[in-house]
Formats: sequence, structure tokens, C-alpha cells
Amino acid sequence: MSALPSTSGKTSAAGSETYDAVVVGAGFAGMYMLHRLRGLDLSVRVYEQGDGVGGTWYWNRYPGARCDVESMQYSYSFSEELQQEWDWSERYAPQPEILKYANHVADRFDLRRDIEFSSRVEQAVFDGSAGCWSVTLAGGKTVTASFVILATGCLSNARVPDIKGLADFKGEVYHTGHWPHHSIDFTGKRVAVIGTGSSAIQSVPVIAEQANHLTVFQRTANFSIPARNAALTAEERESFRSRYPEIRRFAREQTRNGIYQELPDRGALDDGDNERRAKYEERWARGGLTFMGVYNDLALDAAANDTAAGFVRQKIAEIVRDPETAKLLQPNNHPIGTKRICVDTDYFATFNRPNVKLVDIKSSGIEQILPHAVRAAGKDYEVDALVLATGFDAMTGSVAKIDIVGRDGATLNRKWAEGPRTYLGLMSAGFPNLFVITGPGSPSVLSNMIVSIEQHVDWIADCISFMRDHGLSIMEAERDAEDKWVAHVNEIAHATLYPQANSWYMGANIPGKPRIFMPYIGGVGAYRRICNDVVARGYEGFTMTAAERPRKIATL
Ligand code: NAP
Repeated sequence: MSALPSTSGKTSAAGSETYDAVVVGAGFAGMYMLHRLRGLDLSVRVYEQGDGVGGTWYWNRYPGARCDVESMQYSYSFSEELQQEWDWSERYAPQPEILKYANHVADRFDLRRDIEFSSRVEQAVFDGSAGCWSVTLAGGKTVTASFVILATGCLSNARVPDIKGLADFKGEVYHTGHWPHHSIDFTGKRVAVIGTGSSAIQSVPVIAEQANHLTVFQRTANFSIPARNAALTAEERESFRSRYPEIRRFAREQTRNGIYQELPDRGALDDGDNERRAKYEERWARGGLTFMGVYNDLALDAAANDTAAGFVRQKIAEIVRDPETAKLLQPNNHPIGTKRICVDTDYFATFNRPNVKLVDIKSSGIEQILPHAVRAAGKDYEVDALVLATGFDAMTGSVAKIDIVGRDGATLNRKWAEGPRTYLGLMSAGFPNLFVITGPGSPSVLSNMIVSIEQHVDWIADCISFMRDHGLSIMEAERDAEDKWVAHVNEIAHATLYPQANSWYMGANIPGKPRIFMPYIGGVGAYRRICNDVVARGYEGFTMTAAERPRKIATL
């Protein structure tokens, strides 16, 4: 294949549509990718299975859904005008407002004309002789593209658990990650929520206010910190806006999780009991995810971690009046933060309501769903509606749904059968010109997603631009570089407490999924430097080819 043409708009070859790039997904990653590639004058087609933009925020419409990263930071930074003009209403914007923002971005940057909605990509096959991908949509249409970029999201493949009798339930069944677009009214109904992760923790207090009775089925108790959500004042917004350059730079370069905050200068055991407690109290009162940033060793040292975990357990005991329920709600089988910490509004206090009951299913699970009841812990709980807050096949689930065939007929699903293998979380050897945005092996879900999305999109766009400028058309991760990266990702994960939890980070929520810690835990600042260094060393670890004969790019 010749070097990338500098074209805009699609071209037609032999009856099929041809693009420089196909992007899969029109969430925050896919939209920005489209914007950047258009800026390079490339022809781009985005395929999105939903009928609107927004990805996660398009699908997760459950009651109480809102972001757990402050909206002034969970927003694009690539356009100064955009970040100055958009008014977030609350500290943590609710889902409808985030979706409105996504739609605003789509309109403002005129993105929709290159997005095909209600279009699911089923297969992508690399043609080695032509040096391009054939992408097939549900319905059979096939297009070709030089590059395929997966912007499929990390928490987008909603998981319906295999519970006996679920299909026979006669009432309403909803999954939080696949919520209907019309409003659901639980007034007067008996509702069951299965699961106690972030989605449940946000929806339980709201459903409890509506429902006649709510039963929450808990397999694993979870740590949660109060959000302390509130309306944003004009002054607060202005304070962020006027300091945006500094805030964004600091979040990208200096932090582990892409959230602007003061950085800890000591470990939990470096402070005495009173001082430590005062610091936890201050963070608890402030609310939000930065609770975990008070000390620098909470993810590393079990004794340090236990001081934070013990503090939260104590808070739960103070909030929940019934001691038995309080005890059940106190997490005790994983270090705090090793499962994604939750951020809530009145979650624990909701169990003080007379119409809410917690059922512990730790030992026996849910035995069966009957036509009008949930059978668990030796009892039948009659319900009219079931809410499955049972999570996602995270990080790899949405990639695995596409049949991706690389060089010599190798499939990505077979290659990743023992766990995902990528170089920098961006590419997988044997699959040329196929990029993954915030894929496994990158900080991704451990960070403010927008920070990680923008970094990946910029890296990929700059890379494609570089290839064009240098007359190169094929790029591929080298196996050796990939092996070293996978080993590094694994090694640093195992230096932390994270692998101790049965989390979705580890694939532990999906029966049969390999137990591998999937995201890169080195932090967004360190990771960005690694990616930039790779570029500075001539895309070290990648092979770039002009045509059939591979050659390394000279050091820049
Ligand atoms: P999740 O964290 O995976 O929680 C799923 C829950 O369902 C867990 O309590 C799990 O129990 C339970 N469960 C799964 N299968 C079950 C079964 N067969 N029987 C009984 N219980 C079962 O999923 P999620 O709450 O949707 O959250 C996923 C991630 O999405 C979060 O960690 C977060 O990163 C993101 N999220 C973010 C926000 C936000 O920004 N505010 C909101 C929602 C979600 P076990 O723990 O025992 O497996």
C-alpha cells in the first residue's frame, strides 16, 4: 500500500467505501478521535451501535447515574473555547447533563456527518497484501480502511449474570448499563437490586425513594465515600476556568489518576493516630475519590491501607442504625481501593429507611429467580421489578465482541484468550494499523477517563500524521516490546495490593475470564512520559513500513 493519501471525504473503490480510518464507537474517545483525524484531512467513518453519541453516558441512564470525577475535570480540554463556554451545573454532573454535553460537542464540532448510528461493527479483517482492513457491519455492509481505531469503551459490555430462572421472571428486568430511554417509575412497586458496585450504590438511594419496597442483594460489601455533591457556583466555575491551563497540565503530568489534587507527602503510618484520623475526617467531609489520595502508600502497604479501611468501616457503623445491617455493609474481604472505590449520596443511610432491606448472599448467592420472586438465603423475596446492577465484561468485553482477524488469519480473541496482550495498551502485535483507545495495558479505568482518552487520541493522531509525513503506511507493535510491556504491567500491579481483590480490574467478575490485572497502574503522568519517550526514540518497539519491506524509523 502506498503512503497515506491526504484526502478528505470517502472514496469509492470497486463498489465498496474506502476510508483512511474507521473508528468504532462514538463515545468521548470516538468523538475526539474523529475530530483529530479530520484535522489531518483524513477521511474517517465512525460506527456507533447506539442511535446517539455519548457512549457510557448514552447507555447508563439508571436513576442516580452521575460521574464520580468532578465535572470541571471530567470534560474535554482540547478546546479552550469549549472548556470556557460550557457551564456545569453541579460538582458531579448527572448523566443527562453529561449526555447533553456530549451532544453539544458533536454539534459544535459538526461531528455527526461522519458518524453512522445504529451500526454495529461485527468483524474487521486485515488484508496483508492490500495493507488495509475490511470492516463488516451487522447487516453485511463492508468498508475498507487503512486504520481501525477501537473506541469501544472499557465498561460498555453490560453483563447479565447467569442466574437460574432469570428468563422466567414475569416482572420488569433492567440492567443499569443498558437502561431504557423512557422514564421508569417504580412508584408503588417492590424492587430488587442485585449487586452493590458503583451503579447500585448510586441508584439504590433514588430507587428507595420511589419504590414501595426495595430489597438489595449483596454478595460483596463495598467501600464508598460521600460525594458531597452540590450546585457549582459561578465563582467556583470561574476559579477552575481561570486556572485551567495549570489544572489540566498538573492532572496530566503530575498525578497518577488524572485528577487535580494535592499530592501526598507521606504514608499513613508516618502520622500518629490523632493526626491520621483528622486527615481522614477532613477528606470524608470534603467527599469524593480523592479520599484515597491522603497518603501515598494506601495501595501498597496492607497496614497503611487498613487504617483507611477501618475509618470507613467505622463511618458505616455510625451511619447505619441496625448493627446487623451495618456489619454486613462493612467491607472486610479486600483492601480499600483495590476494587474501584464508590462515591455516593446517602447510600449507607438509605438502609435506615423502613422500606429498604439488605440481603446478604455472600455464601449462597442467588439461588433462583422465580416468576415473581428472588430466592436467596433460604427465602423467597416477592418483587415486581429486578434491577441488575451486575457490572460489565470490563476492558476486553467490547473488543472481544468484534471478530478481529489480523496477520495470517490470527484472531485477537485467540491471542487474548489467556489475557490481553498489548504494547502500551495501544496496539497488539500481529494486528497492524489497529489501535485501541484506553485499552488494557494503559492507565485507562484507573484514571479520569477523559485525561487518558485525550492522551491516547493525541498520540494516535500524531502517529498517523507522522506516518503520512514520512511516506509510511503500515505500523505494528513488535512482539518483543509487547512481551516486555505486558511483563512490566504485571510486575508493577503485583507490587500493589490491587491483585488481592476479586475485581473487574482482574477479570474476576466474569466466570472463566483469565485473572490478569488489566490496566497499567504506573499512573497517567509516568505513562505519558513513557509514550512520549517511545516517540522520541523513533517509535521504539513499533515497526513502520512504507510498503512490503519493513524498516525502522530513524531516531527523530
Ligand atoms: P461492578 O462494580 O462490577 O458491580 C457489580 C455488582 O454486582 C457487584 O456487587 C457484584 O458482586 C454483583 N454481582 C455480579 N454478579 C452477581 C451475581 N450473579 N449475583 C449477585 N451479585 C452479583 O459494576 P458497576 O456497579 O456497574 O460498576 C462498574 C464500574 O463502572 C465501576 O467500578 C466504575 O468504574 C464504573 N462506574 C462509574 C460510575 C461513576 O462514574 N459514578 C458509576 C457506575 C459505574 P461481587 O462484587 O461479589 O462480584
